Amino acid sequence: MAGVRKVPISELGPGINNAMIIAVIIAKQTPRKIASKRNPGTERAVWSFTLRDTPYDFINASYWGSIENVNSIANGLHVGDVVEVMNAKVNMRQGGDSEERFQPSVTSPFQLILSENQSTIQLQRPVDEFDAETYNNLIQLLHIPTKAPSCFLTIADVLASGTSMGTEFIDLLVAVARVGPVKNIKTKDGRDIECREVIVLDQTNSSLTIQLWESDLIIQAGNWRPRHTVLFLADVRLAWNAFHRKMGVSIFSRTIVTENPDTTEANILREYAFSAPIAPSAVLDHIASTISDASSIRVVMSVQQVIKKALKNSSAEGDSPMQHENTEDSQFSCLIYCFVTELDLDGVTRVILNRCSKCQTTLTEGFQGLCPNADCPVGSGLDFSKPETIFDIRVTLSDHTGSLPGCRLIDKNAEKVLGCSVTTFQHLTPTEKTSLKWRLLLERCAARILVLKASPQRRTPLISLLFCEPADPAEVAARCPRC
Ligand SMILES: [Zn+2]
Repeated sequence: MAGVRKVPISELGPGINNAMIIAVIIAKQTPRKIASKRNPGTERAVWSFTLRDTPYDFINASYWGSIENVNSIANGLHVGDVVEVMNAKVNMRQGGDSEERFQPSVTSPFQLILSENQSTIQLQRPVDEFDAETYNNLIQLLHIPTKAPSCFLTIADVLASGTSMGTEFIDLLVAVARVGPVKNIKTKDGRDIECREVIVLDQTNSSLTIQLWESDLIIQAGNWRPRHTVLFLADVRLAWNAFHRKMGVSIFSRTIVTENPDTTEANILREYAFSAPIAPSAVLDHIASTISDASSIRVVMSVQQVIKKALKNSSAEGDSPMQHENTEDSQFSCLIYCFVTELDLDGVTRVILNRCSKCQTTLTEGFQGLCPNADCPVGSGLDFSKPETIFDIRVTLSDHTGSLPGCRLIDKNAEKVLGCSVTTFQHLTPTEKTSLKWRLLLERCAARILVLKASPQRRTPLISLLFCEPADPAEVAARCPRC
């Protein structure tokens, strides 16, 4: 094409309409239909996407044309594709334009307008059209966040915010904890759309729900790996999640997702995510292990009161963001005066487990190696670390109002309660184990517990026994609730 020259995004300006731009697509949206102004009664379509050619330069573009043409172009190009754009019109961005609110925030003061009849956009392959180095440099840009890499909120900030953060859009750095299945949802106006939920974690929390609605991203998320994939999310939208009854975020047209960002913060998070507690029981065990002084827990409750409070979040009815409880309220601790009515130290129940000391995966009985997790440096043979042996006991606590079965008594807390290290325990004779059991069983005890409340997704609360000791009858008489 005559007069066409290659122009980097940083050198674009008004009037440069014969430029060739080579850049990587870092975000794309689903095409929209728009009523044609020129031919009333007919529809056109527009597809918006974002291009980048250096760490500092990115620009929004839109491609206009007939519905068939726009759909076919948009379906053929994806985030991560390197493209060559020819003959786009360069316009000043309309600051304050309502359209801008729904577009990624970019560094270029301009925008590119492509049209079916005048412009072209073509996929570039690394070998055919230009050298591999240029191509690789562009691909590397996919790992550089579009916002300052150290300016982001934590999940705890989001969960605690309620709807009162005063801003709709936020930036997050998170690791993938779980990728949900693709769900088909019927909208209020009867359309069928797809949605996918991804649970993410950071050092402050392991259960933020992110909703994906864009079809490309729904597919892309299928390749995200729990504990491995880290995401920098620029401009996600805060949203009250009525189903999960807590704050969540939603990825929409303004968001730019940077997969596996190449930043210090991301590497620290990746390292953390590798062994972070994700399963509710692991989260509970983790919190329980960090409570150093259980004796400071002085709120006395009966078993019935514990059950009532623990089940409070499990129904999704009658809730609104205004009444919602934040992450601190998903758990509570208290003191109960009770009997240990079930504790099996000398029978057939397993009370000790071996786990990998690096990733904490349980070694099933008979497993010969150091770790069964192939993703773990120990499991894959890159690292050597002896498995650790810990107590993993279940007890039932009961009082005159009811019972709490399946309370977890784990690791160091179990050693404190039993007054016996796991190594010593392994060398006890059956008779010694029995007498150890009877020191607590059917005794009236003062038990300090940590409760992870039930949620709409997990109907049973999880309870960890932090500390338990025979109770002084006078103390029980004075403090035990009468219900
Ligand atoms: Zn491991």
